[in-house]
Amino acid sequence: MTYVPMRILVIEDEPQMQKFLRASLTAEGYRTLEATSGKEGIELARTHNPDLVLLDLGLPDMDGMDVTKALREWSAKPIVVISARGQEEDKVRALDLGADDYLTKPFGTGELLARIRVAIRHSSRAKEESTEPLLQIGELGIDLDRRRVVVSGREVHLTPNEYKLFAYLMKHAGKVLTHRQLLKEVWGAAYASQTHYLRVYMVQLRHKLEADPTRPRYLVTEPGVGYRLKTEE
Ligand code: CA
Repeated sequence: MTYVPMRILVIEDEPQMQKFLRASLTAEGYRTLEATSGKEGIELARTHNPDLVLLDLGLPDMDGMDVTKALREWSAKPIVVISARGQEEDKVRALDLGADDYLTKPFGTGELLARIRVAIRHSSRAKEESTEPLLQIGELGIDLDRRRVVVSGREVHLTPNEYKLFAYLMKHAGKVLTHRQLLKEVWGAAYASQTHYLRVYMVQLRHKLEADPTRPRYLVTEPGVGYRLKTEE
């Protein structure tokens, strides 16, 4: 069997950033494809079908939301958006439109590679999800068939909505989930802007599942964006 390197499409217009990304990714064994505009990026994605897309939100011809939307019309491959400070709203909208994660400039190589690994792992796991009812992240375990939650070997009782929220976070462990995505999933589309529900339920979940609820190890807040169930990485 021949080794086929993963291909990452980088859509970024700043030469310095392009250079940094190219160096970090190729050193890790990834192959890169590069585009400096949204149009070019969408075209390269179509012709080369890369394994992951790194997408800068501030492009000269289109904004990242429109690129995300265009890619999601036909591709389920992971998209990690790169945002500058002050693009908070754009970042959240891109995630709501189907982007998988984000990196805020400036970021280091370690963070970049960790996010890419999680996004790729998550996309390959999503395909197998239905066959795997038992999920374990660190001390947290869930049995999706029997609706049981276990922390360090001890069963914990959750209310129906707490369970729904926790199950969704576990199924998407490592991935950032926006307020809107979580609210739609647990309470329904009509509640998509009721972020205070989430705050209350997150406090309850942390009390039941975290060793120190004030310094959560797993159920972490992504400021201005949502929440993430943190994996060991
Ligand atoms: Ca830019």
